Amino acid sequence: MNNAELANEVNKRRTFAIISHPDAGKTTITEQMLLFGGVVREAGTVKAKKSGTFAKSDWMEIEKKRGISVTSSVMQFDYDGKRINILDTPGHEDFSEDTYRTLMAVDSAVMVIDAAKGIEPQTKKLFQICKMRGIPIFTFMNKFDRDAREPLDLLSEVEDVLGVETYPMNWPIGMGRGLKGLYDRYNHRVALTHPEDENNPYIQLDKDGQIPADHPLRQDSIWQETLDEVELIEAAGNSLDEDKIATGDLTPVFFGSALTNFGVETFLQTYLNYAPKPSNHKTLDESIIKANDTVFSGFIFKIQANMNPQHRDRIAFVRICSGEFDRGMDVTLGRTGKGIRLSNSTQFMADSREIVETAVAGDIIGLYDTGNFQIGDSIYSGKNKVEFEKLPQFTPELFVRVMAKNVMKQKSFHKGIEQLVQEGAIQLYRSYNSNEYILGAVGQLQFEVFQFRMLNEYNSEIVMESLGHKTARWINPDQLDEKMASTRNLLVKDRQDAPLFLFENKFAENWFKGKYPDVELTSKL
Ligand code: GDP
Repeated sequence: MNNAELANEVNKRRTFAIISHPDAGKTTITEQMLLFGGVVREAGTVKAKKSGTFAKSDWMEIEKKRGISVTSSVMQFDYDGKRINILDTPGHEDFSEDTYRTLMAVDSAVMVIDAAKGIEPQTKKLFQICKMRGIPIFTFMNKFDRDAREPLDLLSEVEDVLGVETYPMNWPIGMGRGLKGLYDRYNHRVALTHPEDENNPYIQLDKDGQIPADHPLRQDSIWQETLDEVELIEAAGNSLDEDKIATGDLTPVFFGSALTNFGVETFLQTYLNYAPKPSNHKTLDESIIKANDTVFSGFIFKIQANMNPQHRDRIAFVRICSGEFDRGMDVTLGRTGKGIRLSNSTQFMADSREIVETAVAGDIIGLYDTGNFQIGDSIYSGKNKVEFEKLPQFTPELFVRVMAKNVMKQKSFHKGIEQLVQEGAIQLYRSYNSNEYILGAVGQLQFEVFQFRMLNEYNSEIVMESLGHKTARWINPDQLDEKMASTRNLLVKDRQDAPLFLFENKFAENWFKGKYPDVELTSKL
């Protein structure tokens, strides 16, 4: 590709994640989008595939057993002249650091909310990461084919709970069985749920925001109610401020129904008008790598082992930040300065894997890894060293003490821990004086996955003893006195030997602060 072609390709990319609480409709909406992109032909394919192709892998056994998606996969399709990469973030309660890190690899996010439930805990956590990154966030209020909460009520919840301004792009005309359509403020038209002409579900609004006087909807009281509400939001609501959208300070909100495919395509089209092109990335030495720079660079945000047990492979997921990837190219690994040839690469399409020959900034590729890569690594071609800013660490909230069941098998135990910890989904600590192993994770599932993999991949049976929820707080080593440790605040050290306390609860932390007012405690986030 020459420079102009490359820039053209990069500018076509839109890379985003869909965040939601389990059951809000993330899979359903993703599937509708894949349908528009012509990747799948019928609804139901994504879920079916989840238990099909990958079910062969025993890694997926856990998914099957618990009926959840552990891995965040990537789906790519073309729509409206754009190439779209959707990164899936696992939607179950027991999600992991991987889920958070996936959000480091996207340029914007779509938040799907179950309109009967409003903001749920998982959405809130994921939203906060997006907010921290300052990326655009678009909201889809789903399930309006059922009785939902009042739209105004939902908007004020988003504003109050998430601390972000809202701008409704459309407004539901009724809800549940009484849902007549959507008043589309943005496109200045009404979309009907049951149009007379299936091929033309839209009625253009006149300059006063009205539909034709002879339209049956004009006689319906719900129409007047809708107009009153729209008038209210026009007068009292926020304006559609593009700068605020770009920084994630205002979220455009769309009402609709993923299941009945109502409002989804308009949502996608409108979203694509605003969704940013691949963003530029900052390096450790504060320089900026532009997305359409011709020199290839990228970073690894996730490593997943044994997606296919027949091959015992590890896959490193790379977000390409600049330039073009060609299969077989030589790159340098920033951390070690070592040269690596990228000959084995895959790309992910609606759950099937294909060898990828070329990819450009914005795309996500999977590299087969024989142990070269770590999460957060940068790779680049060209002579100038590129090391991207460090990925944030997310403080674990759950802890277990872990040991090998069979003391004779210490070697495989240590090897397994070493390698799995390197993947970054789980954190390892040791008690300060005894070298006992303690694991920390963001969600309970990570422990189960860890135990399963230790047994299956390293033949190491482990015993885990739950320590429950803890608050991890690092302490300046100069201020540390081992007498500060008690049963309510376990003293441990991390992999870099930095000391930290695991507090039983907020009360224990406050008690500690009261007793040692001069001691500084920090959380890593
Ligand atoms: P996920 O866990 O967020 O991926 O949620 P799914 O897409 O699997 O949806 C969870 C459940 O909600 C499924 O039974 C869907 O059929 C249902 N669902 C999804 N979208 C809608 C919708 O717009 N309306 C209704 N009534 N049900 C929906």
